Amino acid sequence: MSLPAVAKSFYTFCKKCDTDRYHMVQSHPTSTSAKMKCEVCAKLMTWNLPKTAAQKAAVKKEGVARKARSTHKDQWELFMQNSGKSPEMNYNLKQKFEVNTILIHPKFGKGYIKEAQQDKIEVVFEDEVKFLMHNRA
Ligand SMILES: [Zn+2]
Repeated sequence: MSLPAVAKSFYTFCKKCDTDRYHMVQSHPTSTSAKMKCEVCAKLMTWNLPKTAAQKAAVKKEGVARKARSTHKDQWELFMQNSGKSPEMNYNLKQKFEVNTILIHPKFGKGYIKEAQQDKIEVVFEDEVKFLMHNRA
């Protein structure tokens, strides 16, 4: 969306008329606003562009989140393609697991262990990355 051009009519709300009116665009005081005059009551008003900058930022943020999601899925797919030698084990809270083990989880499906700490493991599943407990014998 861009600003209505100077000397064009623009249909928008007039506070004084308390209804939508045609306004004659007078000037562009900034790159995101237009000064315009109601064609009925002659009231001057400044019309601002919708917050496209904020919208763009939101879209960008969403794009980054989407990229993060696809990144872990990319890792998952890559790992599964090259997982010929990795052991496959069913998840069990009491078991101690090692990095690069393929984990079969009843709820989350098949994942691989990206990091293993003393009592928890970071597992990359197809849909999400999860921290699970282990080694609780
Ligand atoms: Zn008016």
